[in-house]
Amino acid sequence: MTPPTPTWPSIMILGVRVHRLSWADALHGVELLMADGRQHQIGTVNPEFVMQAQHDPAFLNLLNSLDMAWPDGIGLLWAAKLLRCPIPARVTGSDGVPRMAKLAAQHGWKLFLLGAAPGVAAAAAVQLQKRWSALQIVGSFAGSPAPAEENAIIQRVNAAQPDILFVAYGAPAQDYWIQRNLPRLTSVRLAMGIGGSLDFIVGKQQRAPAWVQRIGLEWLYRLWREPWRWRRQLALPRFAVAVLHQHRRKDTICQNSKAEVSNGA
Ligand code: UDP
Repeated sequence: MTPPTPTWPSIMILGVRVHRLSWADALHGVELLMADGRQHQIGTVNPEFVMQAQHDPAFLNLLNSLDMAWPDGIGLLWAAKLLRCPIPARVTGSDGVPRMAKLAAQHGWKLFLLGAAPGVAAAAAVQLQKRWSALQIVGSFAGSPAPAEENAIIQRVNAAQPDILFVAYGAPAQDYWIQRNLPRLTSVRLAMGIGGSLDFIVGKQQRAPAWVQRIGLEWLYRLWREPWRWRRQLALPRFAVAVLHQHRRKDTICQNSKAEVSNGA
């Protein structure tokens, strides 16, 4: 009999469900999802995703049907704390990809890296394989999220027979890409949108120093390194204001495992 799909504690932030995970929960979660015989989608949710979902009902739907919605974005941790339903850790795609690669090497799961600029996925595959010699990366390809390319990409991925597919086309394109195409990817048990993670692995972009991450200012560092992000990051103050309204309304749904509790009291 197929085991039920696992669930995790969660919080609804502006209508978007985010799982309240530690790193141990997230990685154990990957093991559970890989074992249940179904196909799964993981997303790395941040405040920009949440604000996009406010005017994009299809994206809201997609986010709320993710099998795991990782809390990637310090703003979500701030919101969860304010709404008295704390999230234990910031579980990011950039840190998650190498951690999942290590897990894949231990379990013998095969990876495929899709997306990023030409040559980046292949170079990231080399880097990851250097770190974990048992890791099997069965394919890498830049391609593009354009629907006209989908059939060719699906053929390529199916020919390589990976267990896990990482898709680096940026949000929301990568997450829509997975939602549209996962049923046609015959071998893939887990697909995850990973944004700029491959750029970090190859050193094309640099993560903020650990101390900057610790004080919650990685977003500011990224804005400094990539100033073109200013328009996207306008979502952050809008997110903060909307969360303050949610706090005032006292209508937060804080789910602990099975029982749902409202923090309205
Ligand atoms: N990207 C791509 N094709 C596209 C758009 C984006 O391959 O049509 C890649 C881009 O090269 C980068 C990643 O998608 O590697 C998106 O990175 P971004 O920094 O926007 O994502 P974030 O980390 O902010 O989610």
